[in-house]
Amino acid sequence: MKTVATKPNQVSASNCGKPDCEKIVSLLDIIIDGEASEEDRTYFFSHVETCQECFAAHQKHEQLKRFLRENIQRKVVPTNLLSSIQSVIKTTA
Ligand SMILES: [Zn+2]
Repeated sequence: MKTVATKPNQVSASNCGKPDCEKIVSLLDIIIDGEASEEDRTYFFSHVETCQECFAAHQKHEQLKRFLRENIQRKVVPTNLLSSIQSVIKTTA
């Protein structure tokens, strides 16, 4: 049985368009959250070493997460905001 892709693949944030990069983008969240498996981490970091686009995407993502974390620690975030952030993270993971 073969899978026929009639629809073009979704274009990810990075424009390098390599299939590896799409996988990297999908791994970003679990890598930063520390939920990735050893195998995924190895794959991720060896790719990021050789790919500028994914390296930049990782940096950006990590900064965003750190920013959110620091703001949550310093201020009391309204419950609405917090749960909406969490639901966004869950749906993109
Ligand atoms: Zn890449």
